[in-house]
Amino acid sequence: MSNKIISIGIIGSGTMGSGIAQLAASRGLDVILIDISDELLQKALSLINKNLNRLLQKETITENELNKILTRIKTSTELVDLINTQIVIEAVSEKLDLKKKIFIDLDEQLNDETILASNTSTFPIIELAMSTSRPEKVIGIHFFNPAPIMKLVEIVNSIVTSKKTTDLSYNLALSLGKEPIITKDSPGFIVNRILFPMINEAVFALSEGLGSAEDIDNAMKLGTNQPIGPLALTDLIGLDVSLDIMDTLFNEFKDSKYRAAPLLRQMVRAGKLGRKSGTGFFNYSHTGDK
Ligand code: NAD
Repeated sequence: MSNKIISIGIIGSGTMGSGIAQLAASRGLDVILIDISDELLQKALSLINKNLNRLLQKETITENELNKILTRIKTSTELVDLINTQIVIEAVSEKLDLKKKIFIDLDEQLNDETILASNTSTFPIIELAMSTSRPEKVIGIHFFNPAPIMKLVEIVNSIVTSKKTTDLSYNLALSLGKEPIITKDSPGFIVNRILFPMINEAVFALSEGLGSAEDIDNAMKLGTNQPIGPLALTDLIGLDVSLDIMDTLFNEFKDSKYRAAPLLRQMVRAGKLGRKSGTGFFNYSHTGDK
């Protein structure tokens, strides 16, 4: 396989998948974006269109560039359409059984050379790797939200990932304008292992009445110089995704310090998922910025 990646498949067109698709197409790669329905794919394309139009208004890109970026993104509901891509990044919901099923299907349907990467926030890469017949070609490529903007990418090696797979993934991240770091396959990797217990503690602080959501976020912004408070950050990430991450940390480490705040679970059950549903710890229905 060529050392330069020119085509990429992305599975899951939600917050992360659509962001990675926008980023990759903006950097000149041919993208095939997969989801379970055309309706979801159209929603992702219109979000990408909206984001690119913001860049057009700021004169960061020209109209010609905008059109070229959009034509590089093709959509499909069939995994087999990824057959000619060099690398596939899975960005479906944070459910281990779902991800494993997708890795099994990808392994069966795609060319033996294709690298299979996961954008998982917490799951062991080795579990996904061992569900395929090409474990050395399975790796974590963990982007941060919003994917087109955040500089970090964690490249996560399982104990069987080959050096060739790591090098190609690292170089892909560089070519997407990122500053990748290579880390070990441990739940939450580096950033989420540290970040989510802090977010979870902010939810406990809110439920114990230490302050309002605004106060808690202001305290952390002003007192620790963070650009966004932990509760607004959870709204951006998605409360469902955040809960899944806490549950995985807890299940993997079996350490009570990772137990999810009950309020976080209640809000997910109530459908308050953050920006994507219009409400979370803050209300977004008036901004139209879901
Ligand atoms: P999301 O809920 O916004 O999107 C998930 C998408 O996957 C949905 O569009 C859903 O329809 C699709 N999907 C579900 N089953 C599918 C299937 N069988 N085939 C194809 N598509 C399918 O989730 P997200 O926030 O984009 O998270 C995706 C992944 O990225 C998760 O593993 C998450 O942990 C990780 N992640 C999320 C963030 C974040 O801030 N949201 C940051 C880094 C990594």
